[in-house]
Amino acid sequence: MSQSPAAPAMLDAIVVGAGPAGLTAATYLRRFHRDCLVLDAGDSRARWIPESNNCPGFPHGVSGDELLRLMREQARKFGARFEHAEIDAIRRQNDGFVLSAGPRQWRAHCVILATGVADTLPEASWTGDAVACGALRLCAVCDAWEATDSRIGVYGPLADIAAHGLFLRSYSEHVTLLPTDPGSSPGDGAVEALRQAREAGVALLPAGGRLEFDGERCSYRGPDGTVATFDSVYPYLGARTSAGIAAAAGAELTGDGTLVVDAGQTTSVPGLYAIGDVVSGLNQVSVAVGQAAVAATRVHARLPHVPRVGGDAR
Ligand SMILES: Cc1cc2nc3c(=O)[nH]c(=O)nc-3n(C[C@H](O)[C@H](O)[C@H](O)COP(=O)(O)OP(=O)(O)OC[C@H]3O[C@@H](n4cnc5c(N)ncnc54)[C@H](O)[C@@H]3O)c2cc1C
Repeated sequence: MSQSPAAPAMLDAIVVGAGPAGLTAATYLRRFHRDCLVLDAGDSRARWIPESNNCPGFPHGVSGDELLRLMREQARKFGARFEHAEIDAIRRQNDGFVLSAGPRQWRAHCVILATGVADTLPEASWTGDAVACGALRLCAVCDAWEATDSRIGVYGPLADIAAHGLFLRSYSEHVTLLPTDPGSSPGDGAVEALRQAREAGVALLPAGGRLEFDGERCSYRGPDGTVATFDSVYPYLGARTSAGIAAAAGAELTGDGTLVVDAGQTTSVPGLYAIGDVVSGLNQVSVAVGQAAVAATRVHARLPHVPRVGGDAR
């Protein structure tokens, strides 16, 4: 007689995603003596950070890889467990959730979703090298300071880049818009931003050119063949959200595809929390970390109280 496989153990909490948000949540949960498993697909956006200079506590800068290594070490030190998995479904069941990745399943009373977003990059084989040396920069709030007084290009649909160009104008006198969409007008919302940007001295090159990379810097080859070279180019081509699995479980989304959460980081599904870039409008490590602290503390308060027994009463 064949036996059906045993149901996976019911955990206190599962954290999905091991970027700065998920790793911080795991550390907090373990320090509340909650059992906590981190399921992660291994592609944190923070891995792209060549050197961050705005992470609290790192006055001399820190690379994304090193930051993740330290945060993972901290979570492990307090007993967080990790498994490599790309979760494809979250289902409510009785008083908790069932998560699955293909045939594999896990169960927990609470779930913290920390799955981030993925940047859309220019279609080219060199983008990784260009990000690593700062020729391509993906987040002006993160690193425009490092581009101060240099030649900056802003690449993307005209409707999106005008406001970013204006923002970057407070870092450099040499900012140029590089529109990807020939024949387009900026659209109602962006007309004013474009006017202000132009008035502030932001240059505008003809749309529809191509980005190139020579190993150190990016250039924009215009439709007429003229080439302009920049110390840094910021592409604004959007990002893919990872909120779909939570939406499929019934969680409400904002208009821009991030998850709606309350002040305690709870989604519209009780017991399902969301933190970091998958939620935030300001995609920053410090925001992700703060949201993780709030969510983990809420999870701890939601779970049944467990009086501690034993110990050596130090
Ligand atoms: C080039 C660059 C430079 C940056 N510089 C800075 C900076 O200087 N300062 C700063 O504060 N911020 C910076 N950022 C932003 C920062 O990296 C993000 O805000 C931060 O990584 C968000 O953390 P997170 O934990 O929410 O998401 P992430 O770090 O993206 O982690 C999400 C994790 O979830 C996993 N995942 C996704 N879907 C699933 C799934 N279905 N199942 C299992 N796992 C899943 C992913 O593989 C990943 O490991 C920078 C970003 C880039 C790209």
